[in-house]
Amino acid sequence: MTSPFTENEITRKLTEVLEYDFRVSPAEATHTQIYKALSKIVVNYLKEKRSMFMTDCNSKGRKQVYYLSMEFLMGRSLKTNLYNLGMQDEVAKALKKLDVKIEHIYEEEPDAGLGNGGLGRLAACYLDGLATCAFPATGYSILYEYGIFKQRIIDGWQTELPDDWLPGGRAWLVPVPDQAIEVHFDGEIYEKWEQNYHSVSHVNYKTVNAVPYDMYVSGYDSKGVSKLRLWSAESMSFDMNMFNQGDYAKAIGANNIAHSLTKVLYPNDNHLEGKALRLRQQYFMSAASVGDIVMRHMNVYGTLENLHEKVAIHINDTHPTLAIPELMRILLDDCGYDWDKAWNIITNTFDYTNHTVMAEALETWDVDLMQRILPRIYAIIVEINNRYCAHLMEVTGGDSEKVTRMSIILDNRVKMANLCCAASSSVNGVSKLHSEIIKDSVFHDQYTVTPDAFKNVTNGIAYRRWLLSSNQGLTNLLTECIGDGFKKDASKLADFKKFATDKSVLDKLAAVKLANKQAFAKYVYNTTGTKLNCNGIFDVQVKRLHEYKRQQLNAMNIIADYIYLLNNPDADFVPKTYIFASKAAPGYYMAKQIIKMIWCIGEELKKNPKLNEKLAVVFLEDYKVTLSEILMPASEISEQISLAGTEASGTGNMKLMLNGALTMGTYDGANVEIHEAVGDDNIFIFGMSTPEVNQLKAEGYNPEKIYNSHAVIKSVLEKMYKGINGATFEEVANSLRHADRYMCFADFDSYRGTQAKASETYKDKYLWNKMSLINIASAGIFSADRAVTDYARDIWKLI
Ligand SMILES: *Cc1c(COP(=O)(O)O)cnc(C)c1O
Repeated sequence: MTSPFTENEITRKLTEVLEYDFRVSPAEATHTQIYKALSKIVVNYLKEKRSMFMTDCNSKGRKQVYYLSMEFLMGRSLKTNLYNLGMQDEVAKALKKLDVKIEHIYEEEPDAGLGNGGLGRLAACYLDGLATCAFPATGYSILYEYGIFKQRIIDGWQTELPDDWLPGGRAWLVPVPDQAIEVHFDGEIYEKWEQNYHSVSHVNYKTVNAVPYDMYVSGYDSKGVSKLRLWSAESMSFDMNMFNQGDYAKAIGANNIAHSLTKVLYPNDNHLEGKALRLRQQYFMSAASVGDIVMRHMNVYGTLENLHEKVAIHINDTHPTLAIPELMRILLDDCGYDWDKAWNIITNTFDYTNHTVMAEALETWDVDLMQRILPRIYAIIVEINNRYCAHLMEVTGGDSEKVTRMSIILDNRVKMANLCCAASSSVNGVSKLHSEIIKDSVFHDQYTVTPDAFKNVTNGIAYRRWLLSSNQGLTNLLTECIGDGFKKDASKLADFKKFATDKSVLDKLAAVKLANKQAFAKYVYNTTGTKLNCNGIFDVQVKRLHEYKRQQLNAMNIIADYIYLLNNPDADFVPKTYIFASKAAPGYYMAKQIIKMIWCIGEELKKNPKLNEKLAVVFLEDYKVTLSEILMPASEISEQISLAGTEASGTGNMKLMLNGALTMGTYDGANVEIHEAVGDDNIFIFGMSTPEVNQLKAEGYNPEKIYNSHAVIKSVLEKMYKGINGATFEEVANSLRHADRYMCFADFDSYRGTQAKASETYKDKYLWNKMSLINIASAGIFSADRAVTDYARDIWKLI
């Protein structure tokens, strides 16, 4: 792939932009100014390229996908876009002439943290995959002024700081104020019958202006460019209508909604927040996006009759569900369609991905709240539900209990997942196991009625970000062994398997890992002052902090090791460093306790230097995409230890595998498919399976009983009660003893035994590196390119 610009052209453009925007010469420019100028050059190029790409797609009448998600965890853009465009070397050379290191320029960019964790990162990975595979795609979300909070750990406690990312992040945003969309909130509706013609008017509403800001995402070696359209709420400069009616307070009221609407991302992962402001955010994003989709479609085709033939609208989890009644509203109220014709378009346009089966994350909204904020939308949902339930009564032969369970409105709540199922042409889970679980549990009734709607697409990652642009050493080794076909086609990574018994390649692989560990240790030393022992295993658990993900199980095993080493100071013990990084939702008390406990274990271990050589714990602050890019290449064990049946897929597991870490995992989410890809011998699987979990729950799980009869578990909890580094953790211990919702005790022996097995395996360097090599070589199917191609073929019908 050749760079679109030569080194000289880059120098010339850079000089021009620096002169025009900042009135400085390249020699005088600060790193910030160079970062902004370079970003501008890339943005302008991508904008042009996107326009050509879409003109071509539209001239061919290609169907396109709109991906609606309340979260896009984009991370940084400059490096990945330069890399995907093949410009990185030319830009590096141009900067070198100015005596500037490109790596320093990358450091100027803040992460665009417009998401919480896996769900938001998935959406970002898909924009990359869609561009690379040249599918016409647009993402829609909110331009949060503050993204996911910055985390500081002070004395072991998480504290949250605002993520004011726009000063640096704005360089990637193109404002398009002339494509703003009006969104209406509150007010009342009036129904009218005029000569048999039914019409509805919505009055006294408050208007918020949705102003789009576009971010472009380059594909790799592709003519495709994805666009992420982020909506910012801006007040109408003045609501003249209301002002003229003398209702000054209401005119200002709209102003107030706009003021707070897109301020901040809700920091909950896998947990719903039933606040009015969150509902307003969801409708704001959904209505602005649907308005935009309709306008664009009209511009190309002049009619909405064929919308479902040319457009797929994807709903990433239930957060954007209101797009469904909003499109219905436009078809009925604005375009005068009759109900059945409108509903037919709807049910052939929308698709929905489920991301969790956990009850506390399933979105339901209070009927009164929705009716107050979105009166017309609520009325449409009521009508959808009436017709849907009547239809279900027919197809179920009058099974009223089943129809009640499937009802969209029940007990004064609107059940968003049920609305999605009613309106979507497909419903998919995000790993094989999860897609089976949703058919057996949350959507079992729906599955019995429309079995063909249920699909699976296993998640994937933008693998170039975590391999080619994060792990230079491994990329070079791969290229040396198998050529560079894997850079465009991840399935070619499988060619690396041929080298699984080649000792010289295994030595090189070991050398790459050691160098990456040393580089990471240096980073940790520079940022925290903590020294890591690079001879030991780097065992990594990085992900949001959640009891279902069971960081506490990991901590229990570490405490057990600690107690063991105190009693057996001279034991033969493979040195190990446990690396954690994780944000807790600010209101999640137990999660914050677990962070503090892990931090305290690390601190107490430091006080025993001899023991600390063998066992160390570091808790890194502020887990985010950029930190994951630094960490993955140095990782050796990937902790994926959720209780079976709780993690829908996981994608961190894929990033780690790709970088040669061995999975220590339960039979959950995509771990099942990682196991399938690498085989029994190249993964450490432990713990109960989903059916075993279900059976134990049915029998009645009694953690206290295990506690009373298990000396090691007892000693671990005693340590929590007695104190670690001067702090006690009775709430963590009590919650395990008395509830243990995620069954850590039941899996403890299996986990601890499997950890011991991993340490034993590590002593055989060739065996370990062979296992690592097979993991890398088997990671191809977890590419986002594969995942979006599955969606394009099986769900969106783009091909
Ligand atoms: C990949 C990623 C996640 C998802 O991790 P899981 O282990 O799948 O939960 C979360 N946060 C960030 C920053 C990521 O890059």
